[in-house]
Amino acid sequence: MWHLFAVDPVWAIALAAALGLLVGSWLTVVGHRLPRMMEHDWQQQVQAYQQGQQGDSAHHETLTSTSAYTLWRPGWHCPACAAPIRDWRRVPLLGWALSRGRCAVCRGRIGWRYPVTEILTAVLFALCAWRFGPTPIALCAMGFCAALVALSWIDLQTSLLPDVITLPLVWTGLLVNLSGALTPLPLAVLGAAVGYFFLWLLFHMFRLLTGREGMGYGDFKLLAALGAWFGLAALPGLLLVASLAGVAAAVCLRFSGHAQRGQALPFGPYLALAGLVTLFAVAGRAAWF
Ligand SMILES: [Zn+2]
Repeated sequence: MWHLFAVDPVWAIALAAALGLLVGSWLTVVGHRLPRMMEHDWQQQVQAYQQGQQGDSAHHETLTSTSAYTLWRPGWHCPACAAPIRDWRRVPLLGWALSRGRCAVCRGRIGWRYPVTEILTAVLFALCAWRFGPTPIALCAMGFCAALVALSWIDLQTSLLPDVITLPLVWTGLLVNLSGALTPLPLAVLGAAVGYFFLWLLFHMFRLLTGREGMGYGDFKLLAALGAWFGLAALPGLLLVASLAGVAAAVCLRFSGHAQRGQALPFGPYLALAGLVTLFAVAGRAAWF
């Protein structure tokens, strides 16, 4: 691992935290919009299929007109009334705190998960800087953390783990390990394949025995990504941490009355947690301090 430039660790970590606040702020937008964009795509596909069935080409115009709703446009707006969020209110954390978590126009609540996501991302980015120093790997680790935060948000809201995030996470894991940064490349390849296959097998056995579906294909892809990042040997630990966290959360939710017996809980956030624990606690030692 080589150092890009000599830099004071405290400044680098503070800079990483500031970058984390900005990225975290953007991740809340991604978490909010990506599922809606996917839904829009599905609706268009269904529409295209139905029109194909009818042999109707008159409505072709409506299909090719793409949605104006992207990750970048329109600008930030209130989740309740869609009024644009302007000026200082867009400053991560501060904007939310100064407006007391309410929209300036409709006074509707802007949930606490917005500032929490910003703080969480800032802390994770700072940890990446601390753990890996001023190296390309630190930047890769930040991307890894950002992807896991976005996936957890989306899974908690919609029980989906979008392919557009999980699959690139598999490729980037393999690329990062081309030179064996976190694990030797053969172990990364095996980790990705075995991670996917293990959950796939578990899913089908569970369905055969109980007739219910315990998780989704997104979970297989996420574990494949974690296997690509940390290698085959990390899989048992990843699954153990994710399962323990999942069981603990399920018990807490049951006793606090937030979940019913037999209710399926998203597994993605616990896999993400296991990935973060592995990144900071297991894979190697800290670069600084
Ligand atoms: Zn509003």
